[in-house]
Formats: sequence, structure tokens, C-alpha cells
Amino acid sequence: MAISFSGDPLDEIITTPAILPEDNAEASLRPKHLTEYIGQKKAKENLAVFIQAAKMRNEPLDHVLLHGPPGLGKTTMAGVIATEMGVNLRVTSGPAIEKPGDLVALLTNLQENDILFLDEIHRLNRSVEEILYPAMEDFAVDIILGKGPSANSIRLDLPHFTLIGATTRSGQLSAPLRDRFGVTLRLELYTTEELRSIVERSAGILGVSIEPDGAVEIASRSRGTPRIANRMLRRVRDFAQVKGSGVITKPIADEALSRLEVDKEGLDSVDRRMLRSIIELYNGGPVGLEALAATINEEAVTLEDVYEPFLLQNGFLTRTMRGRCVTQKAYEHLGIEYLGQQRLEL
Ligand code: ADP
Repeated sequence: MAISFSGDPLDEIITTPAILPEDNAEASLRPKHLTEYIGQKKAKENLAVFIQAAKMRNEPLDHVLLHGPPGLGKTTMAGVIATEMGVNLRVTSGPAIEKPGDLVALLTNLQENDILFLDEIHRLNRSVEEILYPAMEDFAVDIILGKGPSANSIRLDLPHFTLIGATTRSGQLSAPLRDRFGVTLRLELYTTEELRSIVERSAGILGVSIEPDGAVEIASRSRGTPRIANRMLRRVRDFAQVKGSGVITKPIADEALSRLEVDKEGLDSVDRRMLRSIIELYNGGPVGLEALAATINEEAVTLEDVYEPFLLQNGFLTRTMRGRCVTQKAYEHLGIEYLGQQRLEL
């Protein structure tokens, strides 16, 4: 029996770390405690100290900035911090706050020691961002009443709260905002071993039978990203149910993921198109990000936030002052002979 996954428009985006409708089940897979949160050893160690110190002083935690590519566990980490501190978590995002008044309403509704999680904080508009400065520093907001010469500014006190900001691009944060965070934590791509633990934990929660090397197969093909690993697990489970005995084995995972066009190194069709274009049209590089994005018809920010981190970390791509270059490993992976500047198709 053949199952065709090709032709399904979602096939193309199985490896996107952006949230897809099928990721609705994510909430049930989110670790709640620091000990359940797999990987990110450095960030966790630092956090554990800050959390313990804040609790000993009976104070809210300092404001925390989390940065790193999408799908690595920033929202999850905010939830873990709230659980460990024993406080409420309110979740919002930069683009959802349109006017300063929206943010004032959110802030004045917080309770003492609450955590406000602000996702995509780099996308806050400037007038909203300015409300955050005194809120973060003095736990107060300044409200202007009236207009013109008779306008009056009153200062409204806020409860002591912790802001957790998350961003995929910390470089885009204004200096005054960045400076107001006491703690900055960078989340890194996960190792295959860490992702294997995440896949096995998620399989346990979802009641899916999985063999250890089936979990490794999924882990090694999910671009260092837990969101993708969990999504692949669900897709491979479907495949195992229909094609196999319901148990996720290595051959089942391999077959399902190959049909989804994710290769052995975890590269998807966009990765391969990106590398191939640099080789074929720019002789291996360097090429500027904008030119490359236009060539392969993707957004430059998507390439930079989503595709590059994985390709850079895994040695397929390098970033130089003059642009992006592919490596010998990329040539070999694509089956194109590497001859320095000169090259031949095999
Ligand atoms: P982000 O906010 O960085 O985009 P999320 O926190 O939404 O990412 O994480 C996406 C999914 O990945 C979550 O549903 C969670 O199940 C899983 N996940 C993320 N980090 C971890 C982790 N360290 N351990 C286990 N699961 C994780």
C-alpha cells in the first residue's frame, strides 16, 4: 500500500519552526518545571540561581530577555519560570499590542509578582515601547490627561511584576529597552541527544510506541528544534499507524520523513534550494542575503531567522562580511563536486 504525502501543501512546511494549526496540541507537551525542561543547560543553571535568589528575598524575578530562533522553547521557558516562582503568567505579543492604552490596561491588571510574557518584543511599536521604560524601571506608568496647555501627566503605580520578553532578533531591540532587562538568556539549537529525549517524552504523553532508534531518526532530522521534532513525531505516528504496526521504528521514521522531503541531515527543500542557488548562480558565494532571498523567492528575514541558524551551525553555510558562502560539506551533500571556484556536476 502506498501512501502519498506529496501534493499536500503542508509537506513543504513540515520543517518550519513557525506555529502551524496542527501544533495546537503543543500545550499538553510543554514541560512545566525546570527539571522537565530538556537541554539549554547554561540558561537553566543561571535561571535556577536567579529564581532561588528572588524567592529568598521574596521579590519578583528581574526582567528576563529570552532570545533565539523560533520553536526552541521560549514560551515554554516563561511558563516554567512562572511555575517555579509560583505566580501567574499573562501571555501577549508585540504585534498584538497596538496602542499604548492596550499595554497600560494589561499592566494595571497584573497582580503583585505576576509575570507578563511579551513574545516578539522587537515588533512593539515605539509609542508602546516607551510605556514599558518606566513600567520596567519604576513599576509606574505616566498617563497624559487632556490636551494642549491644560494637559496633565499623572503617574500610576503598578504592581511589582516581571517582564519576560522573547525575540528571534535581539539586534533589533532598541538599546533603552535591552538595557532594562536584568537577565538575558540565549537559547541554542538542541543536540540530537536532547531532541531524542524530547521526542521520547512527547511520545509518552501522546501514548505513542516508539523504538529508541526511531526517536533518534526523528531527532536527527528536526533541525535542532523541539517544535519541529514534536510535529514530525505526530506525522510519523500517522504513518506508522497506516503503514506499519503503529510502533515508530527507524525504517518507518526514515520512510515517512523522506516522503516529507526531509533528508538525512535534516535539510528540507528550502535549505537545499538555498544552497544549490548559491552554488549554481553565485559560484558558491559570497552572496548578499537580499539577493539570495529574491533568487529563491523567500523573505530575507525568513532565511535569516529560520534557515540560516541551522545551516550555519551544521557547517553547510558560512557568513562573511561580503555575504553568505556555502562550504565543501554543502557541495558534497548535494552531490556536486567541489573544486574551489571551479566545479563540475557529478
Ligand atoms: P518558542 O516560544 O521559542 O517559539 P515554544 O516554547 O512554543 O517555542 O516551544 C515549542 C514546543 O516545543 C513546545 O510545545 C514544547 O512542547 C516543545 N519544547 C520546547 N522546549 C522544550 C524543552 N526544553 N523540553 C521539552 N519540550 C520542549
